[in-house]
Amino acid sequence: MKSTGLASILGAVLFTNAASFDAQSDATLQIYVRNFGRVPDDIMSVAKEELHKVFREIHIEIMWTDIPVDIVNGAVGQFNVQVLARSTFKDPSRRAALGSVQRTNRGTQSVHVFYDRIQEFQQASRGSTDRKTVTGRILAYAIAHELGHVLLKSMTHSSKGIMRAKWESSDIEDSAGTMFFASSEGDVIRKQLRKRTP
Ligand SMILES: [Zn+2]
Repeated sequence: MKSTGLASILGAVLFTNAASFDAQSDATLQIYVRNFGRVPDDIMSVAKEELHKVFREIHIEIMWTDIPVDIVNGAVGQFNVQVLARSTFKDPSRRAALGSVQRTNRGTQSVHVFYDRIQEFQQASRGSTDRKTVTGRILAYAIAHELGHVLLKSMTHSSKGIMRAKWESSDIEDSAGTMFFASSEGDVIRKQLRKRTP
């Protein structure tokens, strides 16, 4: 327990703006989020909370920074998330896709998620009583899934959890538990993050 005490003290010193920093976490993931799709604050809050939950399960603490959309060249780090109003896919076969990973001209990757598709998925889910919770939850899963592709350095999908190619409405209804990464995916993601930390 002694070492845990020390870790909390260091955590308090080094991560003063992350109020919820968890000393038990093995890695942190700093993301920069631009809300181009004008997703309402209450839905964004649900998404934030849900994203924290998804990553804490694999011992990663998310540090979420909102970047105002009018700042074109604001502080942009390695992990950028753009919440877009509309899907950028024209191909009907990609109609249901909730997000994508784009390579930027600076050679980094940027995660895009599509608010129109997220809302369509929410509307298609049967028996969901709390629209905000369900929409926020899908938004968080979409961000986590695309970040997963970047962090796993792979565009392949798995048969279980958040890295599946397709989700059912039963995955996102009020009664459904949180969707997580597989623990093997968590191992790879933590390794990637530790490698990138200077
Ligand atoms: Zn995917």
